[in-house]
Amino acid sequence: MLIAIEGIDGSGKGTQAKQLLERFLAAGKAAALVSFPRYSATHFGRTIGRFLNGEFGALDQVDPHLAATLYAADRLESKPFLQEKLSAHDVVICDRYVASNAAHQGAKRTGDERRALQQWISQTEFGVFDLPRPDLVILLDLPATTAQELIARKAARDYTSKKADIQEADGTYLAGVRDVYLDLAATEPNWCRVACLKDGELRSVEDIGNEVWQIATSALERAACGGSSCSKQQP
Ligand code: ADP
Repeated sequence: MLIAIEGIDGSGKGTQAKQLLERFLAAGKAAALVSFPRYSATHFGRTIGRFLNGEFGALDQVDPHLAATLYAADRLESKPFLQEKLSAHDVVICDRYVASNAAHQGAKRTGDERRALQQWISQTEFGVFDLPRPDLVILLDLPATTAQELIARKAARDYTSKKADIQEADGTYLAGVRDVYLDLAATEPNWCRVACLKDGELRSVEDIGNEVWQIATSALERAACGGSSCSKQQP
């Protein structure tokens, strides 16, 4: 089973993906975690680092088809690695996957142009590159303002010397990406949204983790019975 953890920068994906991995391992499942982009592991991952450092221009100066191609190429380059993980494990958790491309690049267009761009990304990644489709996508949903506070708490990353890369630093952009993620969660099959705020307050890592665990294990059980991965029931 391929589970993608999605959400805007700073929404807690890395934290929750690691927790989910540990819980699956503790439950005796063969589980693995893969984080995209693979910044230092692939040729295209390193190029994405350069893009996020602004080397190819500001966010609105790089055509979203071209930016999307870098992220898709990182996954194509990682395909043998991902397939090896999938064949050797019960569960592979991806910290970001194809939907990150649909949300981040989709946020740079509106209406029909957005839909056309998202279809182009889907055709590139799932059609031409034949990447595996996720069985479940869990969206960690957080407003951009709170996410930016969490980004400020992050440890140093290997692809940037900045505290925030060009995407993380742009609150308007992050808010737009969140809106696209919410649209996808409402319309795409196999998506579950987890609200990371409760009564305006950030929920604890453990509380969010319990909900993510419940969604993931229910989906695993349903998949074992041949059912759909998400009941679309919201908390
Ligand atoms: P992402 O991978 O989505 O960018 P991270 O998992 O790296 O986000 O989280 C960003 C920062 O916020 C990290 O320092 C992390 O420890 C912290 N964090 C994540 N979730 C929570 C939470 N629920 N409460 C408090 N801090 C959190």
